[in-house]
Amino acid sequence: MNAEIIAVGSELLLGQIANTNAQFLSKQLADLGINVYFHTVVGDNQDRLKRVVETAKQRSKLIIFTGGLGPTKDDLTKETMASMLQQQLVIHEKSLKRIEAYYEKVNRKMTDNNKKQAVILENATVLLNDHGMAPGMAITKDHVTYMLLPGPPMEMQPMYLKYGTEYLNDLLGVRERIISRVLRFFGIGESKLETEIEDLIDKQVNPTIAPLASNFEVKLRLTAKHSSVDKANELLDDTEQEILSRVGQYFYGYENTSLLEHAVAVLQEKKLTIASAESLTGGMFMSELIAVPGSSSVAKGGIVAYTNDMKETLLNVNRTTLIQEGAVSKECAQQMAEHVRKSCNSDCGISFTGVAGPQSVEGKDVGTVFIGLSIKDHPTEVYSLKLAGSRQTIRERAIKYGYYYLLKQLKK
Ligand code: ATP
Ligand code: MG
Repeated sequence: MNAEIIAVGSELLLGQIANTNAQFLSKQLADLGINVYFHTVVGDNQDRLKRVVETAKQRSKLIIFTGGLGPTKDDLTKETMASMLQQQLVIHEKSLKRIEAYYEKVNRKMTDNNKKQAVILENATVLLNDHGMAPGMAITKDHVTYMLLPGPPMEMQPMYLKYGTEYLNDLLGVRERIISRVLRFFGIGESKLETEIEDLIDKQVNPTIAPLASNFEVKLRLTAKHSSVDKANELLDDTEQEILSRVGQYFYGYENTSLLEHAVAVLQEKKLTIASAESLTGGMFMSELIAVPGSSSVAKGGIVAYTNDMKETLLNVNRTTLIQEGAVSKECAQQMAEHVRKSCNSDCGISFTGVAGPQSVEGKDVGTVFIGLSIKDHPTEVYSLKLAGSRQTIRERAIKYGYYYLLKQLKK
């Protein structure tokens, strides 16, 4: 099957945005074995769009449009295609209800052009928009398939992946289902992880294994194909087990849930509260925790004690410890964590002390970090780290380690 992609939008022609939609779709179509032979960009102009479509339908069996499904006057992809395919424009009730519900929720009056977003070609298959207002649609006429997707990548990509591929698979008579799973790791670098599973990556066919590093974390996306969803999941299970038998100690969860969200979920599940004593991180740990919805049942609060004075007065750190071992020490981290747990009357206390740089402190190198963790009914643990990077990076990474150690301890 030969396909082409038509991106509609004058802002693309003016150079205000890059046509990343075409790039995304081309890659996706290649994965389905569909040849993409043309990318076209056309402005928000009905005549020119018509001319482009006239050409496209002579040479391609699949034409995918992005953009121009919105509420404004310059959004005219649907109107143009309705006239070219002799289709009425009708309201899609389910989408209209969603739009109405949205306006009711935000307590704003809906205008007529908002309704326009719920309009579809009468005989089209609707592709629901789970991340926005205007639904997409697909229709096949005279052996040519037209798929209309919204412009914003945040809406277009999930719509294509969830509903668009299904339409195309049916069209191609593909019975194969593609299932993927993301494994998330922390505390191991991308290259180390890749080395540990190098032979699996080298021989990967089904499932495929794709590593992805971001935000001091590494993810592995496993993708399996099979006519049976159960069988595809079995393939994923086997590969996951093989991977975890090698690097399981760094694994912390699946899919879109971050380290922080996992930590909150485990605290909630175990009905535990936490307080923080922060020097190095200056309150960032607690601030991030509180940003997670639902953290109010677990986050008690914290104490930011940056100077030695404050560590002594607010966190009861021994003066002798501060003089002999220093504020950046195992002993200080331990006392901070234990004291904050007691004084905040929480189940867990966590502390951060360290050298973020640029200068070394107390003769200790930049990147020296101690994280104390005091959990009720457990002996206090102090973790010692040597972190690399800028001042900000060291502080951010220290926080991630904090969530990671907390999770590890709680899962024991
Ligand atoms: P909306 O309901 O937001 O108006 P729409 O389907 O009408 O959506 P457009 O108005 O054409 O889409 O574009 C909306 C926004 O989507 C653009 O401002 C741009 O940020 C993004 N966008 C549109 N086309 C592309 C493209 N080809 N590549 C990347 N981003 C795009
Ligand atoms: Mg628009």
